[in-house]
Amino acid sequence: MTAIPQERRLVTAIPGPKSQELQARRTAAVAGGVGSVLPVFAARAGGGIVEDVDGNRLIDFGSGIAVTSVGASAEAVVRRASAQLADFTHTCFMVTPYEGYVEVCERLAELTPGDHAKKSALFNSGAEAVENAVKIARSYTRRQAVVVFDHGYHGRTNLTMALTSKNMPYKNGFGPFAPEIYRVPVAYGYRWPTGPENCGPEASAQVIDQISKQIGADNVAAIIIEPLLGEGGFIEPAKGFLPALARFARENGIVFVADEIQSGFCRTGQWFACEDEGVVPDLITTAKGIAGGLPLAAVTGRAEIMDAAHSGGLGGTYGGNPVACAAALGAIETMKELDLAAKARRIEAVMKPRLAALSEKYDVIGDIRGRGAMIAIELVKDRATKEPNPEATAALAKACHAAGLLVLTCGTYGNVLRFLPPLVIGEDLLTEGLDIVEQAFSAL
Ligand SMILES: *Cc1c(COP(=O)(O)O)cnc(C)c1O
Repeated sequence: MTAIPQERRLVTAIPGPKSQELQARRTAAVAGGVGSVLPVFAARAGGGIVEDVDGNRLIDFGSGIAVTSVGASAEAVVRRASAQLADFTHTCFMVTPYEGYVEVCERLAELTPGDHAKKSALFNSGAEAVENAVKIARSYTRRQAVVVFDHGYHGRTNLTMALTSKNMPYKNGFGPFAPEIYRVPVAYGYRWPTGPENCGPEASAQVIDQISKQIGADNVAAIIIEPLLGEGGFIEPAKGFLPALARFARENGIVFVADEIQSGFCRTGQWFACEDEGVVPDLITTAKGIAGGLPLAAVTGRAEIMDAAHSGGLGGTYGGNPVACAAALGAIETMKELDLAAKARRIEAVMKPRLAALSEKYDVIGDIRGRGAMIAIELVKDRATKEPNPEATAALAKACHAAGLLVLTCGTYGNVLRFLPPLVIGEDLLTEGLDIVEQAFSAL
């Protein structure tokens, strides 16, 4: 493996001629429903750089959507996955099991919040993990209703589409959706009518009232929330909201599920985002950052809840694939050795002051938020009305892309520019990326 030089380099326009050629083939062969943020075709990637087929090197502020936190070719991931690949690729854990799966579950029990007895089950994708968390919670409680939140995102399968808040592009025309899903408000401080200070207590009271009056707490199997909402706009629920919901769930026999698929594995400066307020979920779903880019997902939680489903009730052909498990063990090893939670906090310490300075200069910046290496700018047309500004957001992303900085957008209103650099990114690249963001604002 040759290390990729950790420097930005533009040798053609973005996208370059080879990417454009591949894009034409892609358009002919790949279904139109599958989109791409930037039609630059990757040749290799690692550290804080994605190198394309034309030889351009882009600074990566996306990590393939918070996946390659350890980099896209981390030494321990490549080494362990390659060794496993040579030994065997698959037996199916449900046919003949193997140690890697068990070891990943052991690591999950150690790393996730709470010192109670824990068990895990492994799957292939985040959506699959969330689906299984619902199956497990229903099986344990013998109840059906599931409570989810405004701006929540949980995946693209039928059940998780129903759990996901935003219609376009995730749900439009794809119904009918699964029943017994109830959506309640989230504590979105920036847009809370009476202000961010009141948001936590008011929002939790409203949610509890709504659950009690509209559903009946006794009918609720699970409350599922992202402790730091991802696709919906990097919304940090106002202080007090998560602890109040966790308490309400505990008092009413409801399984409290933290969907940490985007926020987990050191991304927010802690192993898991729910640790920020000391919340201990009953179940936690993980994927994305868990395995350095290989497809793996997990549900981890209280042993008695995890054991509620009958034998054979959970699983899947590829769930906990041995190569993906080996990669996960490599990713976890890397996170521990390099203390990537601390690296995430350092990324926040570098980013936040730079963005705060931008906010002094540019009125389109409504809010700057997030934690660790999960930071976002919400853009508005007017600071008083907070009218969302998706046009400025798209223009900024486009300008960053043209300058060789890979950024992503998100948000229910498409007006959030989000930064998810690999946690191993060098500080010079991080600073250079922020220079590009600054130039994009001045050109707006
Ligand atoms: C990405 C994501 C999912 C879905 O994961 P997939 O692997 O794409 O199925 C679910 N929940 C959250 C919070 C996510 O960010």
